[in-house]
Amino acid sequence: MSFLRKLFTGGNPSLPKASDHADPNAWWLYVQCGKCGAPLAIRIDLRNDISTDYETNGRYLRKEIMDSACFQLMYAEVRFDSNGKVAQQTLERGKFLDRAEYETIKTAWDAQKSAK
Ligand SMILES: [Zn+2]
Repeated sequence: MSFLRKLFTGGNPSLPKASDHADPNAWWLYVQCGKCGAPLAIRIDLRNDISTDYETNGRYLRKEIMDSACFQLMYAEVRFDSNGKVAQQTLERGKFLDRAEYETIKTAWDAQKSAK
């Protein structure tokens, strides 16, 4: 397992950098795997990942997320209102986190991993 973990997580920074948040086309989704509890930060490209629902004139996102710890697939769907705020979000096989929850869980997760 540690081999696979190395292969997939490599030398990636554990947290998105502040500079990434300055990217006007980037939006971050924080989720937790419902199977193994791993926290994930997913970068959403607002230019490519967001679609428009012409019936309601709202925007929505559908995204498949694969957990790099247990390889479970999760399906996220987020709907935005006309102001661009999140109106509704669902995640199959996991749950959404806010940034603070993500960072807390990520810290605990990394501590647990390095203790093994
Ligand atoms: Zn998992």
